[in-house]
Amino acid sequence: MILGKHASIAGGIDKSLKRAAEIGCNSVQIFVKNPRGWKARVLSDAEVERFKINRKKYNINPVVVHAAYLINLASPKQELWEKSISALKMELSRSARLGAEYLIFHPGSHTGSGIDSGIKRIAEALNIIFSEIDDSLTEKTKILLENTAGAGSSIGQDFSELKAIIDKVEQSEKLGICIDSCHAFAAKYNLQQKSGLNKLLSDLDDDIGLSMLKVIHLNDSKHNCCENKDEHAHIGEGKIGENGFKELINHPKLKDLPFILETPWFEDEVDQDVILLEKLRY
Ligand SMILES: [Zn+2]
Ligand SMILES: [Zn+2]
Repeated sequence: MILGKHASIAGGIDKSLKRAAEIGCNSVQIFVKNPRGWKARVLSDAEVERFKINRKKYNINPVVVHAAYLINLASPKQELWEKSISALKMELSRSARLGAEYLIFHPGSHTGSGIDSGIKRIAEALNIIFSEIDDSLTEKTKILLENTAGAGSSIGQDFSELKAIIDKVEQSEKLGICIDSCHAFAAKYNLQQKSGLNKLLSDLDDDIGLSMLKVIHLNDSKHNCCENKDEHAHIGEGKIGENGFKELINHPKLKDLPFILETPWFEDEVDQDVILLEKLRY
């Protein structure tokens, strides 16, 4: 099983790899800058080199980057939209420098301008990014759109919305999809049951194609199915429950994909999610 955890980059980006390996992971997700601000400190060559050395040492594959939460490519506000484009470009170049395979971002919120307008904005932003950056960056790092829980005016709770974005992007081969189990459950798929998982997979295949799916975020949900509320819970402690995750991680169409846990334990605690998932895997 390819199992990763979102790991802290405190003390240097290279430190995240040891943190993931120590709890029994062979993949990792990281931020490449403070996720709640626009500014980023300079990434030195030495830090990038240490990251690459540690990655080999701990045998971590793939490396997944999660983009900052402030980025909103769907925004109707020109200033925020332009800032978001620059920020995602910067994250892409940092991800590629580190050799990360994937950079995941949330499609964004239209904040009142409407879903269609938001979708157009996102696609336009991606077209600008792909036309401005060097192809060598996207050869290293694929950009993944993450499905959302559908809270507020967020775009991407429905696969048809993600498909509409992809269709409008000229170099769409540079894109892929990340599915978050909590978001899918909050949006509309009852992942407690195998039937809910199969419905998700058939919808995804019909709308976008399963081959676009590259990463799965494994989060249980504090809220019930279809409530559009995005609050993660530890595996088995939420409304999806152990059985739902057993079906998910062993599904023949998913079992070879990287699964990434995003719910943190305190640093000195044993990671119960990793232990439980190893038990549920057959
Ligand atoms: Zn996310
Ligand atoms: Zn979430």
